[in-house]
Amino acid sequence: MAIVIVGAGLAGGTAATELRERGYEGEVVLLGEEEHPPYERPPLSKGYLLGNDELDGAFVHARDWYAEHDVDLRTGVQATALDTDAHVLSTTDGDLTYERLLLATGAEPRRLAFAEDAGIEVAYLRTIEDSDRLKAAFGEGKRIAVVGAGWIGLEVAAAARAAGSDVTVFETAELPLLRVLGPTVARVFADLHREHGVDLRLGAAVSLDDLAGADLVVAGIGVSPRVDLARNGGLAVDDGVLVDAGLRTSVPSVLAVGDIASQAHPVLGRRIRVEHWDTAINQAKTAAHNLAGGDEVYDTLPYFFTDQYDLGMEYVGHAGADDEVVVHGDLDAKTFRAFWIRDDRVVAAMHANDWDATDALREAVATGELPEAP
Ligand code: FAD
Repeated sequence: MAIVIVGAGLAGGTAATELRERGYEGEVVLLGEEEHPPYERPPLSKGYLLGNDELDGAFVHARDWYAEHDVDLRTGVQATALDTDAHVLSTTDGDLTYERLLLATGAEPRRLAFAEDAGIEVAYLRTIEDSDRLKAAFGEGKRIAVVGAGWIGLEVAAAARAAGSDVTVFETAELPLLRVLGPTVARVFADLHREHGVDLRLGAAVSLDDLAGADLVVAGIGVSPRVDLARNGGLAVDDGVLVDAGLRTSVPSVLAVGDIASQAHPVLGRRIRVEHWDTAINQAKTAAHNLAGGDEVYDTLPYFFTDQYDLGMEYVGHAGADDEVVVHGDLDAKTFRAFWIRDDRVVAAMHANDWDATDALREAVATGELPEAP
C-alpha cells in the first residue's frame, strides 16, 4: 500500500523528494488540485512579480523528475473525503487506499467579503496565476489599492511601485506588521514604504469609497489553513490540524505539515502554526522520515525572510507585539539586529540588511541569551 500525499505544494513536493532521497522504495502518490507540479510561493510576490526572475527557479523539480523517481504525481486532482478507519482517500479521480497519509493542503487567502459583496473585483496572491494577473495589472500610473499591510501586502506594494504604479495601502492597525514585530521595528517598514512613495493609510478600516477609483484592488489580509478534509475526516483540528512533536495527527497513520499544521513545538513549549517557507520544507523532511517508519521530532525554530525594495531581512523564533525589544544598530539606516525578550529570554531575533547576523540570531534564540552589542 502507498504513502499518499495530499497537496502538491512546497511541503508535499519536499516530502516526496525526501522519501526517495532517504531510500524509501514503496509506492508514493502525490496529488494536488493545481495543474502545476509543486512550486515555491515566495517568488510570486518578489523576483517573479518584479519581472526579475523566471518561473523555472520556483519549481521544486521539473515535472519529469517525478516520473523518473517513481513518484506518482497527479495534478488537477482534488481530495474530497477521508476515511481514516478504512484508510481510504476519495478524490475527483477516484478512491485511493493508503498505508500512511500526509496532509499538506496549505492555506488560502481570506476574502475581502464586504468589497466583493459590493461588486468590486478583488485580486489575491497565492498562485502563479494570481501573480501573473497582478503583474499584468501593474504599470506606469496604474492605481493599485492594497488592503492589508502584512508581508504579502507590503511585498505587493513594493513590486507595484517598482513597476511605476501609484500605490495606496490600507491597514487597520496603527503600523504595518504591528502584530508580528511590535511598534519599534514595525515603524521601519512604515518609513520604508513611505520613502518609496507608497500612500500608507494606517489606523482606519478601508471603505468602498477608498477602493472605488482603483484600477486593481489587491487584498492581503491573511490566510486560512485548508483544514476541511482533515476536520470532515474526524481529525482533531483547532486553527490548524493538531499534530504532535513528530507531526502525527490525532490518527497516527496520518501526518500533517506546513501551513495547516498546528504543532506542539518541543522547544518553544507551546502549540504554534507557522505559515513560512522554511517550516514547510523542514517539517516535510521530518514527516517523510516518520512516514517511512521513523520516529523523528520536529524541533526547528520558525524562520522567515522578506525582501522589499533595498531592505532584506531574516527573522528567527516567535515573539508577540508586547514583548520587549532590544535593537543593536541603526533603525533609521535600516541596518540592525533586533531581539525580542520575554521572561528574560530572547524568544525571537531578526536582522535587516546585516547578512552576517544569521548564525548569531539563531544562537540567541536557541540559548535565550542576549548577545553583546557588536
Ligand atoms: P501550499 O504551498 O499552499 O501548498 C498546498 C497545496 O495543496 C496547494 O497547491 C493547494 O492547491 C493544494 N490543495 C489544498 N487542498 C487540496 C485538496 N483537497 N486536494 C488536492 N490539493 C489540495 N514564506 C516565507 O517564509 N517567506 C516568504 O518570503 C514567503 N513569501 C510568500 C509569498 C507568497 C505570495 C505566498 C502566497 C506565500 C509566501 N510565503 C512565504 C509562505 C509560504 O509560501 C507557505 O508557508 C508555503 O507555501 C506553505 O507550503 P504548504 O505546502 O504547506 O502549502
